[in-house]
Amino acid sequence: MKRIVAKFGGSSMQDASAMRKAAALTIARKAGFVIVSATYRTTDQLLQLAGAAELGNLAAKNELLETIRQRHLEIADDLAVSRLVLDAIAEILKELEALILSVHLLKKCSPNTLDQILSVGERMSSLLFAEALKELNTHAIRWFDIREVMMTNDRHLKAEPLFDEISELAQKYCPIEPGTIIVSQGFIGRNKKGATTTLGRGGSDYSGSIIAGALWADQLEIWTDVPGISTCDPKIYSKARPISELSYDEASEMAQYGAKVLHPTTLVAAMKQHFPVFVGSTFQPEKGGTFIRSEVKDQPLVRAISHRLHQSLLVIKTPKMFHAVGFMSNIFRVFREHEVSVDCVTTSEIGVAVSVDQELELNIPLVRDLQKLGEVKFEIGYSLISLIGNRMFITAGMGKQLFAALGDINVRMMCFGASQYNLNILVKDEDCARAIQNLHQTFIERC
Ligand code: ASP
Ligand code: MG
Repeated sequence: MKRIVAKFGGSSMQDASAMRKAAALTIARKAGFVIVSATYRTTDQLLQLAGAAELGNLAAKNELLETIRQRHLEIADDLAVSRLVLDAIAEILKELEALILSVHLLKKCSPNTLDQILSVGERMSSLLFAEALKELNTHAIRWFDIREVMMTNDRHLKAEPLFDEISELAQKYCPIEPGTIIVSQGFIGRNKKGATTTLGRGGSDYSGSIIAGALWADQLEIWTDVPGISTCDPKIYSKARPISELSYDEASEMAQYGAKVLHPTTLVAAMKQHFPVFVGSTFQPEKGGTFIRSEVKDQPLVRAISHRLHQSLLVIKTPKMFHAVGFMSNIFRVFREHEVSVDCVTTSEIGVAVSVDQELELNIPLVRDLQKLGEVKFEIGYSLISLIGNRMFITAGMGKQLFAALGDINVRMMCFGASQYNLNILVKDEDCARAIQNLHQTFIERC
């Protein structure tokens, strides 16, 4: 028996019909453990709901509560769920109301409370999805509260999983067994004190891979609303093609640099334990998808082009850096203190340029602290474009092709050489689509 962990995203949970498709797929693919996201848009709305309660915006609070309730009760109705499940959902909705009331009274939503509020989404969707599976009547269906095994540290809203504990507990309490399908939640976990935590937005992919790793699964399958990963964003360029196979190295660079199909952390466990990850569409499973594995057949120079819009560039300049030791570490310490993650870095003798994945504002404490180290120049409105492929720094002539493809598009910054799998350039947001199209034509369509 192949041990398969499947993860279904929010769009696969959007209504009863999507849930039925996901359920049929679970059976067809012989998945023994299923991790699901909250129903479509629910996590966003839970966040808005907490915000509305904190601000005392009663109208918005009531409307959001009602929207969330209606969505879940409608699916429950369509699936004709049992009394027991209806009661369980009613209980969770009652808990949500109590939490929101406390936020409203205190005018404060702590990260601790917010995690408990956010957990409601996955807890309800998994209960409903288990019912969709039960309709098919093929397996014993076991709903499982993932918090029993998904131990994390205390960092609410972006908790780190405790891998060893999770493995031990998962093997004991939720092993994959023939004849049974376990249905559980992505995104949520629990710290040692017993409080609910979450793994960060989009974290259900990560949950899937943590569980697949903990249970030594043979394969992780991520089911979403697109048939796998494409050579570039099809919304930006219609000639984007599906990719059938990616190496772990390529896929990690892609996830990191903006391919939204896969959360960047998903491959952590897969790379450690060498299980393949498949990405496909719940709605068009016949279209196939992308396999991510350690060994792939062909290794093109450029496999894909990913991008992230709205990046900022900070340039820190000081003559003190001239022949000085430790200047870089001082700069990076400031980024660390402000928990801002740095993407690309280039240096000159008296300056350091750093790109970050957010649209920063001039007055934020990060910038003020950097100003203590030197003159800080600040630019926004950039896109980071990444070419992802193989052997890049040992392929002569790549630069010539790159700049020829870009033509009159200005490159503000370029990062190359840290890995043979990627090359990053920073261009103005308004040039991003054109740059991607030109690069795609040169490196992907002509090859
Ligand atoms: N429901 C969570 C979110 O929307 C986790 C996930 O879907 O991956 O961020
Ligand atoms: Mg997702």
